[in-house]
Amino acid sequence: MNVTVFGTGYVGLVQGAILADVGHHVVCVDVDAEKVERLTQGHIPIYEPGLESLVRENFASGRLEFTTDSEAGVKHGQVQFIAVGTPPDEDGSADLKYVLAVAQTIAEHMDRKQIIINKSTVPVGTADKVRACITEKLADRGQGDLQFDVVSNPEFLKEGSAVADCQKPDRIIIGTENEATIEVMRELYAPFNRNHDKVIIMDVRSAELTKYAANCMLATKISFMNEIANLSERLGADIEMVRQGIGSDPRIGYHFIYPGVGYGGSCFPKDVQALIRASDNIDFDAKVLKAVEARNYEQKTTLFEKIARHYDNDLAGKTFALWGLSFKPSTDDMREAPSRVLMEALWQAGAKVQAYDPEAMEETQRLYGNRDDLTLCGTKESALKGADALVIVTEWQSFRAPDFAALSRELRQPVIFDGRNMFEPVRMIDKGFTYYSVGRQPVQ
Ligand code: NAD
Repeated sequence: MNVTVFGTGYVGLVQGAILADVGHHVVCVDVDAEKVERLTQGHIPIYEPGLESLVRENFASGRLEFTTDSEAGVKHGQVQFIAVGTPPDEDGSADLKYVLAVAQTIAEHMDRKQIIINKSTVPVGTADKVRACITEKLADRGQGDLQFDVVSNPEFLKEGSAVADCQKPDRIIIGTENEATIEVMRELYAPFNRNHDKVIIMDVRSAELTKYAANCMLATKISFMNEIANLSERLGADIEMVRQGIGSDPRIGYHFIYPGVGYGGSCFPKDVQALIRASDNIDFDAKVLKAVEARNYEQKTTLFEKIARHYDNDLAGKTFALWGLSFKPSTDDMREAPSRVLMEALWQAGAKVQAYDPEAMEETQRLYGNRDDLTLCGTKESALKGADALVIVTEWQSFRAPDFAALSRELRQPVIFDGRNMFEPVRMIDKGFTYYSVGRQPVQ
């Protein structure tokens, strides 16, 4: 099938690459000329396991193309994916300007029946807006009789495993009531739907809400566990015991109930906010979502508070080794990352940071540039040298079994602030560390 994808971010690029890989002929359109130029030279702008080789191979085979030429893009595809960003507006609601700009572009250039597939995360009612926008433009062009359908097909990939998630989706949500469209969508996704039928057909509005509901449920799990962790700390309990205790109930399960330093990234914060705003707009008070957001906002400061308390609020001149900058492991994405809140609080208090992350060093450099109070270190070991303490913010695999003897040797004092409960407190005492974690008792 000839497929066009608008947007070459996490969603568009991965989707384009996996569709090309199974044999579809995909043209990816982006307005960012530099990005397109780099992609055609084989430079992948984001880190995702398996993505680089997938893009290179399919580009070389001619099944995956990149262009800024939106007219050629529209003319190529039998279906048109919209996979552009929907960042928060000033009041937190989803900004649809990029989605509607693509709708305009499609309407400007389409010359035959089209299926417009919305993969961006958008509020309920967006398909209607896209439809209205296209209908108006086609009428302006005197092409009002051209047929089209707008489908909601939300994306559920996780950054860090985006390629695998798209190749083996848990579900393929198709929001449309048009039988012919359903047939085309089934054909498009057939290569990813072989093990058992993962296609769930529903009306457009339910499909749009499903995406928000999924992300908000996951964010709720995190904020709930963080709330219980904070309680554990104050009540003399151990959240890791509590986690295992509740996870053993199959109605609760072990997935996604880890306490930490709050959720970040480009999706949970913005999607929780957007659903709150959408609720406000219809005079519905989304009480649970507001609490989820408030807990997360506070959770991002908890690690700093522990550090400040340990040093009696005197952090001026102190240096901290910081492991983990990306908002979660296996990505270089630092959007809304807890590490940023922490670093900025440390700098504000006059401390310095020696930071290391396996993938997000370039992104950190891009965000903060050169500053006296930030040293970007080439290895996790070099970040320790002369630091007063180690702070762990992201649970990368390579941090799980460090050389503790080297750690005590390199740090000025054997102190660790662990935002991800990577180690056993009792073992840390045995090794001579002062060890702070989340929802467990601090140990000296
Ligand atoms: P992104 O910001 O990484 O990429 C968006 C791309 O769209 C950019 O390259 C931008 O230049 C391009 N673009 C903007 N306007 C354009 C236009 N008019 N024509 C062509 N290209 C244009 O975004 P993303 O992370 O891929 O997210 C895209 C959407 O998918 C969002 O709605 C997001 O909420 C949703 N989503 C993201 C994830 C994720 O993990 N990142 C997961 C599921 C869903």
